[in-house]
Amino acid sequence: MAIETTVQTFKNLINGEWVDSLSNATFESKNPAKESDVVGRFQASVEADVNQAMEAAERAFQTWRSVSPTKRAEILYKAADLLEAKLDQYAEELTREEGKTLASSKMEVKRSAQTLRYYAFEGLNIAGETLPSEDPTISIYTKKEPLGVVTVITPWNFPISIPVRKIAPALVTGNTVVFKPASDTPLIALRLVQALHEAGLPAGVINFITGSASQTGNALVTHPAVKAVTFTGSTSAGVAIQRSVRLSTRVQLELGGKNPLLVMEDADPEQAAELAIKGGFELTGQACTGTSRVIVMESVHDRFVQALIEKTKKLNIGNGSKSGVEIGPLANASQLKNVLAYIEIGKGEGASLAYGGEQLTGGEYEEGYFVRPAIFTNVTPSMRIAQEEIFGPVISVIRVGSFEEAMKVANDVEYGLSAAICTQDSARIQHFVNNIQSGVVKVNRPTTGNAPHVPFGGVKMSSTATYRESGRGALEFYTQIKSVYHGM
Ligand code: NAP
Repeated sequence: MAIETTVQTFKNLINGEWVDSLSNATFESKNPAKESDVVGRFQASVEADVNQAMEAAERAFQTWRSVSPTKRAEILYKAADLLEAKLDQYAEELTREEGKTLASSKMEVKRSAQTLRYYAFEGLNIAGETLPSEDPTISIYTKKEPLGVVTVITPWNFPISIPVRKIAPALVTGNTVVFKPASDTPLIALRLVQALHEAGLPAGVINFITGSASQTGNALVTHPAVKAVTFTGSTSAGVAIQRSVRLSTRVQLELGGKNPLLVMEDADPEQAAELAIKGGFELTGQACTGTSRVIVMESVHDRFVQALIEKTKKLNIGNGSKSGVEIGPLANASQLKNVLAYIEIGKGEGASLAYGGEQLTGGEYEEGYFVRPAIFTNVTPSMRIAQEEIFGPVISVIRVGSFEEAMKVANDVEYGLSAAICTQDSARIQHFVNNIQSGVVKVNRPTTGNAPHVPFGGVKMSSTATYRESGRGALEFYTQIKSVYHGM
């Protein structure tokens, strides 16, 4: 992939126009595999920009709310086609900006187009119900209506697929959107907005603001026009948002995880190691559903650890845009700092660093945020590396003596996003599915991965949402019920 020598400056989209921020300032998005490679310059927006976007979205709602679902669907279908037509370019940009491998980026852009199509179709299924009436001259029914302006705030780790699974259901149900992407990955987010704009969304229906959370965050969630906030990101930011929104604002928070993989006595150590690597190290461990704890039965522990180390040693770490690379860099300097800090915390707590954990420097790694995937053994459940989300390629292996102990350890964290088990024992599988405190459950599958039509979200501190993201139920968050009594 050729690196552009001239750095392009990108704009905000407000009321259908690409505009500069009122701050007259920009910030740079950089390649985490090569810091000197500037991907683009983006508007360093401030509260006044957010206010303009909110006003545009509020105005546009007055007409968009009445546009037919078929027309809304047409626009989403067209946007999906536009994304797919530039799949190769957008995947390269995603890799250059976020660091994940080109194969992962292609999959993410493709999945985003599928999600647009899924919601385009689902928009035609927004249905109320007819209810019994005590008076034959009165018919009673409910209808679902859009809320108004929805604020969408998203992280950098799935920088197009997460925005799409919020923006598509918001738009198809008749809401208007103000969207702020993560400051590490504004370009691929802009590509999504461009596709929707070019597909024919009327002015003001989607508004796009880049800039730091400190300058824009408060206005994005507290502006009086905002009827709902859908946020995916860290637990600390989610908690701050929840505390600052107005009482009448609907809030959907998708937060962190500390996802376990349980490896039972009958598990094939090779298969279990592959599941751990796929869930824990692919995407450089930067997935909310990433495997960060492997809870292993005593009898299979040593064979599992050996297989895990051997397979991890063979992983090809490098610039995600190069063919054959399996693990890209961490997404930014603070991610690298945080992961290295947790490696020290683990060592300090008395866990054994069985493999990896060091920063990679020199040669192709010189300008990037590379770390060798780390495997900790002799981890006890109360250690910080077994309790706190690290959000990097660090697996903590916890040895247990019984299935009951494995379940207790698995549930004894504040999160509950995804959990997996590796076994063929159907009674254990059933017990696991019924008793694990997790929004997503995988059997002989990695903790990562979800499909657009399947509900997604967590329990406990992983998700405060009443409504799940993804799937048919996702539309519920973006609509409210009106009850109608219709007399003659
Ligand atoms: P983050 O630091 O919380 O940032 C997420 C987004 O929120 C960014 O756009 C950020 O803007 C913005 N933001 C931060 N503080 C804010 C505030 N007080 N008010 C308004 N906006 C604010 O998270 P991240 O580092 O990008 O992403 C990693 C986290 O996301 C992990 O904890 C991971 O588990 C979680 N995640 C969860 C899911 C899920 O579905 N449960 C999926 C993916 C990721 P700036 O970029 O400008 O700071």
